[in-house]
Amino acid sequence: MNKHKSRLFKENVLLRCINCGSIYEADPWLFICPRCRGLLEVEMPSNIEVDFRSIANRRMGVWKYKELLPLGNDIKPITMGEGGTPLIKLSRVMEALNINGIEAYVKFEGANPTGSFKDRGMTVGVTIAKYIGVKGVIVASTGNTAASAAAYAARAGIKCIVVLPKGGVAKGKIAQALLHGAEVMELDGTFDDALEEVFMNVTSSNSRDLYPLNSYNPWRLEGQKTIAFEVVDELGIVPDAVIVPVGNAGNISAIWKGFKELYRYGLIRELPRMIGIQAEGAAPLASAWSRGLDTPQFIEKPMTIASAIRIGRPVNWMKAVRAVRESKGTFISVTDEEILESIKILARFEGIGVEPASATTLAGLIKAYNNGIIERNSTVVLIATGHALKDPDTIIRYSL
Ligand SMILES: *Cc1c(COP(=O)(O)O)cnc(C)c1O
Ligand SMILES: [Zn+2]
Repeated sequence: MNKHKSRLFKENVLLRCINCGSIYEADPWLFICPRCRGLLEVEMPSNIEVDFRSIANRRMGVWKYKELLPLGNDIKPITMGEGGTPLIKLSRVMEALNINGIEAYVKFEGANPTGSFKDRGMTVGVTIAKYIGVKGVIVASTGNTAASAAAYAARAGIKCIVVLPKGGVAKGKIAQALLHGAEVMELDGTFDDALEEVFMNVTSSNSRDLYPLNSYNPWRLEGQKTIAFEVVDELGIVPDAVIVPVGNAGNISAIWKGFKELYRYGLIRELPRMIGIQAEGAAPLASAWSRGLDTPQFIEKPMTIASAIRIGRPVNWMKAVRAVRESKGTFISVTDEEILESIKILARFEGIGVEPASATTLAGLIKAYNNGIIERNSTVVLIATGHALKDPDTIIRYSL
């Protein structure tokens, strides 16, 4: 082990293949299991010495929970105070929708520094990139990953290269990537094609100049698991269900991992059900689930107004299916009309402005309630992943 590794990660942090179970030493460059090509997951040490009370005086945010993150405690993070987002109780919306006996909260990830939850992953990912001394980071993106990577790379003083599906990214997100100085490459094709391009580039070249920060990078997802920590920390209880928009399926997997770790460390005694929402035209997981299939049938040309989740081949599908199955949750799909309606309801009744992908959570809650998937006397948290300002064109085009 070189001296970098021993300081970058905590002792006893490992990588485990989610497919064949092989265990590997913590390594920032290992993304795919060399034995079976499965995705890897960070395995935290079996013991930690922290509970919510002992850190109650710390500022809210991703790094409040540094003992629960895999990075060494003396690592200096590249941070902008990400996380610590508001948990907003819905009242007028529930009344307007006539949903009774359910306590619902919105975790407003739009309040992150670049306006989406991606900042939670990027603060960890770019901290690693800076530490290992790469020239820059590279991502494929439907937009928010690009905006976030660009900002954190700027802060770290390293390059950022983003590969975007041409014409498939909301205006606010492209503007951010350019503003923060990213090198933007547009690709004819879908996000899935862009991701493959980045993946092939990184895995086929021997050069380690550019560090990839898409969600197949298990280290990035470690930052995102703090959504679970904050929900429990702030609510004081474990919600019955957590509703998450699903695109590449990294976030739902990360949040579930966060809850499971709290459980394993004895910090909580129950686990929530994970409910993943996809848009109807981009729902490989939801449509497989509804037909009782375990493996998604990938979609060549995903279509939805919710560009952040316009993804046909979710790279983390296996982690997400496991999260939903283990938690006794479900996948649900919603239509673009339902998404538009939900944006408007959140905006008009609660003052919460979200981008289309995030509104799938309210549309999903309505469906789950009507189908009896969510019972009365439940506490539910909707993960509102990105800010309304990300996609002003949709608001104006549909006169929301
Ligand atoms: C990235 C993103 C998603 C999807 O998250 P995955 O981890 O890819 O499933 C949902 N909503 C917004 C706003 C996003 O930026
Ligand atoms: Zn394997």
